[in-house]
Amino acid sequence: MATGGGYRNGAHKAPNLRNSSSFKSKLPPSNVRRSSPATLGGGGVPSGRVRVAVRLRPKNAEELGADADFADCIELQPELKRLKLRKNNWDSDTYEFDEVFTEFASQKRVYEVVAKPVVESVLDGYNGTVMAYGQTGTGKTYTLGRLGDEDTSARGIMVRSMEDLLANISPETDSILVSYLQIYMETIQDLLNPANDNISIVEDQKTGDVSLPGATVMEIRDQQSFIELLRLGEDHRFAANTKLNTESSRSHALLMVHVKRSVSDGDNDFSPENRSHLIGNLRPPMLRKSKLIVVDLAGSERIHKSGSEGHMLEEAKSINLSLSALGKCINALAENSSHVPVRDSKLTRLLKDSFGGTSRTSLIVTIGPSPRHRGETSSTILFGQRAMKVENMLKIKEEFDYKSLSKRLEMEIDKLIAENERQQKVYENETERIRLEAQKRVAEAERNYVEVLEEEKMKCQMHYMESIKMLEEKWAVNQQKQIINGEIHADASNKEVAELKSLLQNENRLRKTAEEDIQNLKNQLLKFSKVELMGNTDVSSFQQVLEEESHQKKKLEEELRLLRSQLAQLTIEANQPRGSLNRGNSANPLLGLNSLSPLNHLRSRDGGDGERASITNLHEQVGLQKILSLLESDDASVRIHAVKVVANLAAEEANQEKIVEAGGLTSLLMLLRSYEDETVRRIAAGAIANLAMNEANQELIMAQAGISLLAMTATDAEDSQTLRMVAGAIANLCGNDKLQTRLRSEGGIKALLGMVRCRHPDVLSQVARGVANFAKCESRASTQGTRAGRSLLIEDGALPWIVQNANNEVSLIRRHVELALCHLAQHEVNAKDMISGGALWELVRISRDCSREDIRSLARRTLTSSSTFQSEMRRLRIEV
Ligand code: ADP
Ligand code: MG
Repeated sequence: MATGGGYRNGAHKAPNLRNSSSFKSKLPPSNVRRSSPATLGGGGVPSGRVRVAVRLRPKNAEELGADADFADCIELQPELKRLKLRKNNWDSDTYEFDEVFTEFASQKRVYEVVAKPVVESVLDGYNGTVMAYGQTGTGKTYTLGRLGDEDTSARGIMVRSMEDLLANISPETDSILVSYLQIYMETIQDLLNPANDNISIVEDQKTGDVSLPGATVMEIRDQQSFIELLRLGEDHRFAANTKLNTESSRSHALLMVHVKRSVSDGDNDFSPENRSHLIGNLRPPMLRKSKLIVVDLAGSERIHKSGSEGHMLEEAKSINLSLSALGKCINALAENSSHVPVRDSKLTRLLKDSFGGTSRTSLIVTIGPSPRHRGETSSTILFGQRAMKVENMLKIKEEFDYKSLSKRLEMEIDKLIAENERQQKVYENETERIRLEAQKRVAEAERNYVEVLEEEKMKCQMHYMESIKMLEEKWAVNQQKQIINGEIHADASNKEVAELKSLLQNENRLRKTAEEDIQNLKNQLLKFSKVELMGNTDVSSFQQVLEEESHQKKKLEEELRLLRSQLAQLTIEANQPRGSLNRGNSANPLLGLNSLSPLNHLRSRDGGDGERASITNLHEQVGLQKILSLLESDDASVRIHAVKVVANLAAEEANQEKIVEAGGLTSLLMLLRSYEDETVRRIAAGAIANLAMNEANQELIMAQAGISLLAMTATDAEDSQTLRMVAGAIANLCGNDKLQTRLRSEGGIKALLGMVRCRHPDVLSQVARGVANFAKCESRASTQGTRAGRSLLIEDGALPWIVQNANNEVSLIRRHVELALCHLAQHEVNAKDMISGGALWELVRISRDCSREDIRSLARRTLTSSSTFQSEMRRLRIEV
């Protein structure tokens, strides 16, 4: 290598040193904890110039002894960063360096001045090189490679560099990979894997970057593992050198530290506030890949000196080929030569970027103080002087980290998916909560509504009951009035009757007198007859008298008959209001009707008393058999007369048995079947109704299919009185326990209910009576256990009518229906239908308002004994 500009008799100054006297150049800030030791200068102009410091080793024991008589050839002026190399006693060359370390310089200071700026640059993304150059034994390895096991202050640049690197990277995003190599005789050996003893250099065609893919790469996570690695490398180096019969001073050791860093400018902030910004920002993060090379060069002493070690010359040449190539390159670079022979050696190829490249490079030149090695020391100093002229173009090694971007985006997607799922869950929970809340509110509203409704219903009910009560009271008052009127009327009639009776008695008396007179006259006649024998003249006069008397008698008889007929008429009239009076006030509503023979009505409607008298006469004259046969007469008027006669007879209990015995019932039923004429049917039905009051007859009627004939008549009839007769007959049958099932199966109940189409109260009372009778028999049978199941009345659809008429304004109808309801209610099996049919309300009303105490208490008992009614009433909050 050519000599650099030395100062003769004065300061020798590198020409470009004036402006850049610092090891530290201004570089982009990094997160490195910057210490501020007394580094070189502290100027501050960014520059890529190779920084060179010189370090003087303290004298060793040998030198202390051997050189005692000689003055040191080296004189340092550290404050001026100058070194004087004494040529002789009067002459010396002065050199200026970036830093001059005396033999007292600490390892720490050497690191901080020489290596630390390079390490900081590496952390910032620049390549960095720290290289030691000097004669064997001057302290290269001491400066770079000491581990400082016993004394930490002795730690060298390698250990300290790694300490700083590890302290300043983020283990999550950054990495440090290390290779440790040795170049010996132009072969690259892997100090981490001795078997790997010939590693080839690979050069990227495009970028020209060199790499050693074959070298072992170890990731460093902590200082300890790095020290282990250095120790291992050192051991391998020693072993390799022993095997090759050489020593470490003949080989170059290279520690390659690959630092990979993610540029952290807040891009890794995944907080929700920052996320939207990040999502939009698809710019991949920057990845900085930098490399720190620490080179412990082989000894710089000339080859001939080491030739004595027994190596062949060629080998010796080869040993130092790399070093001389390095010198040539540095010379070329220092002189700005167009050709830099980088490719001449393995070392220069590997250090291509360190000199003349983009790396920040520091060179430490080690020298010994001994004048005996003055020549070597001088050439070492000159090497350093030349190296100071090498300008590098610092360039940040930054690239887009697509891998990390994709990883980050994947992470972001995962987070967003998780967040989305979480929000979905929250949303679902919220929806569910709202749904439940709504359900609760609806239920509450419904409950409130039901309560209000119930209250309203209760109010209406009470109002309704009060109205009913009021109407009933009114009705009772009216009834009272009617009764009074009726009594007045009856009183008048009674008076009339009494008068007539006395008149009649008078007449009777007169008649008796007349009869007595007649008897007397007869006696007299007898006497006269005897006398006649004595004279006929007296006889004819007597006969005349007799004729007169019998004429008189006929006249009287005629009068008597008229009076009787009037009496009968008056009796009927007098009885009629009393009858209706009985109906209204009867303790037993059935009694009133049962006692009311349908014939009573027939009499006033279908024939007068005169007619009845003639009928009685007819019966007496022609006999029952004959009359019954006339029922089948072809002559309609005869038929009507005959049926009237039979009906009249049937009205009297005494005749009923005879009529039935003579086949009258059969004939009457036959009339229902055969004749269209409603009058005939009406009267026949009336007669049947009367006969049906008798239990034995009821069974006969059933046996002769009477119920279907009655049902048929009920369907056909238009006249309310016909319906009343039919209804009365069926109502009577309804009261027979034995006929229940048959009556129903043959359409009796249906027929009875069908008749309500006629709204005449007479018909309705008979229907009500029939229903009550039926219900009563059913109830009795249920109680006795002879029947089970729902009421046949309910089965046949009677309930709506019953409920409708439970409060009928006609008290007779009402009483029957009330009783029917009570009977039905006594059996739990009917309760449900009754509740749904509205019967419960009626029963409640009856239990509260019925004017009849017995029915009222019956209703109350019935309600309280049924659990179904009880629970329904509890639900409706009704109290009885
Ligand atoms: P080189 O690697 O250059 O051949 P070494 O580092 O092996 O030299 O040093 C040779 C000897 O000098 C070693 O014993 C070393 O401990 C000692 N030595 C070198 N430099 C110093 C120093 N600055 N202070 C104390 N001893 C030193
Ligand atoms: Mg060494």
